Amino acid sequence: MAKNYRSQLTGCFGDPIDENPTGVMEEAAYHACGLDYRYITMKVKAEDLKAGIAGIRAMNFRGLNLTIPHKVAVIPYLDELSEQARIIGAVNVIINENGKLIGDNTDGRGFLKSLTDIGFDPKGKTVTLLGAGGAARAVAVELALAGAKKINIINRSEKRGREVAELTAERTPALTEYLPWTTAGSAEGPAAIPKDTDVLVQCTNIGLYPDVTGLPDIDYSSVMPDMLCADVVFNRPDTPFLQRAHECGARTIQGLDMLVNQGALNFEMWTGCKAPVDVMIRKLREEFGL
Ligand code: NDP
Repeated sequence: MAKNYRSQLTGCFGDPIDENPTGVMEEAAYHACGLDYRYITMKVKAEDLKAGIAGIRAMNFRGLNLTIPHKVAVIPYLDELSEQARIIGAVNVIINENGKLIGDNTDGRGFLKSLTDIGFDPKGKTVTLLGAGGAARAVAVELALAGAKKINIINRSEKRGREVAELTAERTPALTEYLPWTTAGSAEGPAAIPKDTDVLVQCTNIGLYPDVTGLPDIDYSSVMPDMLCADVVFNRPDTPFLQRAHECGARTIQGLDMLVNQGALNFEMWTGCKAPVDVMIRKLREEFGL
């Protein structure tokens, strides 16, 4: 049989991107499965995205991840979108099927899996999100599609917060509401978490490296022991928000779980093999010195 020395190429476009550890996890998974795949972490500026995607086509990349600032901007350069990516309005992964670039979104599915992995079913539950960016959108839509009854969006910018609440209300069966993010200095004081919240998800950049001491300005006396609290920030995984939620007696889920779960879904799309999730978690934990 003729030898094949051609590697399958995958990678990630972002700016900033230097601190993104996805490549370490995906390469460990390729190695563990004996696959000749590579994952390259690439700094691509917003204005160079079109040229970057043309390069992906020219070099026959098998797959690509997109992170800040490309998740929405990439859509016009793709050939097809999955149902999920269309509803969310953002793409975090591309699969190249014989020259056709298909955009999908696995951020929300990765988060959902971190809930179901601990036996938590969002069906009929009330979810409160801090933030209304790309990650919040993906989590809101996916949990609503998984049967969450009510989604509350608390966001600093009212415009963005209302947009995500409206998008979720229009495209999913869940009830949604925007709540203003009042702060400690305001007459109302820091935002209180609605009492009927079952899951509270921190979806802002607060606590993200390098400002790892950042703590969302909310009323922590309203965080109850029966709430499940999750953070999407993974770098560092034990964020000040999760530490405070733990002190309030709540069960917590780290953003690292979501990162591994969406990475595993991407791996399976690109390779057709079952992802070695244990290897991926171990490698990332090692990377973070945990
Ligand atoms: P975006 O830039 O799209 O959104 C950022 C959000 O954070 C906005 O809602 C913004 O509010 C809010 N925000 C930022 N700073 C503050 C602040 N000081 N006070 C209050 N609100 C603030 O980012 P993404 O949604 O794409 O990413 C958010 C986080 O999610 C990042 O840390 C990213 O690493 C993480 N992430 C993790 C994943 C995982 O697998 N674990 C996957 C995807 C993302 P406003 O609208 O008012 O500006």
